[in-house]
Amino acid sequence: MSVPPSNALESPLARPLKELRGVGTEREAQLTRLGLHTVEDLLLHRPRRYEDRRHFRTIAELTLDEAATTRGTIVALGTKRFRGGHKSVFEIILDDGTARLHCRWWNLPFMQNYFAMGDEVFVFGKPNSLKPRTIDHPETEVIEGGEESSIHVNRIAPIYPLTEGLPQRWLRSFIWRTLEQYENDIVELWPKLLNESHAVAATFRLRDYALTSKDRPDVQGFRELPSRANAIHMLHFPEAEGDIDLARRRLALDEYISLQREIQLRRKKFEAKAQSRPCVGDNHLIKPFLAQLGFSLTGAQTRVLRELRKDMAGTHPMRRLLQGDVGSGKTAVAACCALMALESSYNVALMAPTEILAEQHYQNFKRWFEPLGIRVALQTGNYKSSPPSTLNSQLSTLTIGTHALIESAFAMERLGLVIIDEQHKFGVTQREQLVRKGNYPHLLVMTATPIPRTLGLTLYGELDVSTIDELPAGRGRIKTFVRSDDKLPKVWSFIREKLAEGRQAYVVYPRVEDTGKGLKAVTKEFDNLEAILAPYRIGLLHGRLKSAEKELVMTAFRKNTVRVLLATPLIEVGVDVPNATIMVIENAEQFGLAQLHQLRGRIGRGAHDSYCILIAAAKSREAQQRLKVLEETNDGFRIAEADLKLRGPGELLGQQQSGMPKLRFGNLVDDLELIKLARQLAAESWV
Ligand code: ADP
Ligand code: MG
Repeated sequence: MSVPPSNALESPLARPLKELRGVGTEREAQLTRLGLHTVEDLLLHRPRRYEDRRHFRTIAELTLDEAATTRGTIVALGTKRFRGGHKSVFEIILDDGTARLHCRWWNLPFMQNYFAMGDEVFVFGKPNSLKPRTIDHPETEVIEGGEESSIHVNRIAPIYPLTEGLPQRWLRSFIWRTLEQYENDIVELWPKLLNESHAVAATFRLRDYALTSKDRPDVQGFRELPSRANAIHMLHFPEAEGDIDLARRRLALDEYISLQREIQLRRKKFEAKAQSRPCVGDNHLIKPFLAQLGFSLTGAQTRVLRELRKDMAGTHPMRRLLQGDVGSGKTAVAACCALMALESSYNVALMAPTEILAEQHYQNFKRWFEPLGIRVALQTGNYKSSPPSTLNSQLSTLTIGTHALIESAFAMERLGLVIIDEQHKFGVTQREQLVRKGNYPHLLVMTATPIPRTLGLTLYGELDVSTIDELPAGRGRIKTFVRSDDKLPKVWSFIREKLAEGRQAYVVYPRVEDTGKGLKAVTKEFDNLEAILAPYRIGLLHGRLKSAEKELVMTAFRKNTVRVLLATPLIEVGVDVPNATIMVIENAEQFGLAQLHQLRGRIGRGAHDSYCILIAAAKSREAQQRLKVLEETNDGFRIAEADLKLRGPGELLGQQQSGMPKLRFGNLVDDLELIKLARQLAAESWV
């Protein structure tokens, strides 16, 4: 005997669409292709755009190259074939009393099945000619009479994403009917958080949160958000233009609350499991370290260190993201943090994304730490320094490495702290793998890509954030220029001048080898540039070189025997050669702004003024415009925000984007206030 399903508990919205009237096997397959399985899925199917069919243009009012909606009656139609019948064009001519409009479809002969003489048709598209008025491949919808016309006509009509064989009109009617039937079953997802007593405008029951002013949401802006049921109605059938955004924001808020609850739950679970290892230290290593460092820490570095020390002493292991623009001195802060753990007799691991950077950290930390009696070890794919001997195991160790640290059998007794440099080059999984090598060690992840707040609160929501917002004094300026590639000869002679003054330069290309896509390749340009810049010595650095070769050229560049380094963006992270003051980036249009800013961070590290020259193809006007942001500002935050707007979040996240939440209504570029609000509401949901 089968047990009857407990429908009492199951929401009617979970009902499979195939059980609904009008959905046969064919429609079911089409809806499935759109990812729509249940009533709820259907009600959340977001229109891709809207068409205001109350105020459409007359055909005479259409303008060239401007997308618009119009309507008219078919007065002629037909298919022309040419090239022996292989090519065709199907055309309809509409008349609305003001003018005629030709609509054409190339090589889609079946289009003729959808239209008949005398049909009334809505048309949306961009006229590509006005003599005669013509739109090629417009979106169309035949107006049918009858009761249903109020759903499709004389209103702001939703235009949905479709799949082959599924008519817009059918889907709209289907959603209308389903909404009518199920609207009363739509409940608030967070009834305790959102007051349901107002049928239309749910007013949030916001308490006085104990928040820092930066994170306090702008509550006033949310008082008038509709209930979830209303929002879903407005999403499909808005009464006014403004409804569309209200609906989106209300549904996005629900998404963000779920997301924030997940984040907070993970954090809570973690804190319940993990006991902390107090690592405050006693300053016996930090003091002499700071004394020999050769500079005093900036105010921002000191403030951040205080935040780190508090974490390291806390009852839960530290989980902190340290962000600071390129050159802001994160390494020194990381060193002090490491020393806190080492002072407390714990071992420390530091992971960097490239061998070059790991090697550079190894050199620096050896110089800093060995005089203090701390062993510094290096472990990369190709290199492993002397194995930690068990003989003097009372000596604390800092192990520096690449992802080889995760893959190898590297295991560390008393691992108290894990530091990850340039963490956006790693995925979340890699980070956690390294952490798991110890028993809940403290975690410090560092990044030079400033993270816009929206991403910080979602993707990095589990981490506390510290920011170094100040550069050490006495840095030369970086001047940035965007130039088209026809100016290259001038650029090279400028570089020759600077080389003659003793400076060094980087020249960056997007590719290692020529792939025939019009992008310059570092191996191909080498001979060319060697000739142009002779007699100055130039070196080559890219990811396909063997480690020993990379090390050789980096050493020569540090020693200033190699004067110009031709490289791929491999040098983006970490490389620190203060005498290198010029950077030329070819095919700069290929890179995101944040990445260019990172690359540019390789210069401006000494007292001399630095020059960054971004070369973009002469024809790519648009790209050159985009790059101007870098001419205007050196503020990593502004650049990251601009990048987020221009290219979306993926670019900024690097490896992390696999962890991106799937948002249907949320928009990580614009929704800072919503995200802040969701965070507060989610926090309240636990009490
Ligand atoms: P990033 O934050 O990009 O990792 P680094 O830690 O590599 O920056 O620091 C860049 C340079 O600035 C290094 O040469 C470092 O020694 C120097 N530096 C760091 N902190 C200070 C400071 N407080 N005063 C002067 N120079 C500093
Ligand atoms: Mg660094």
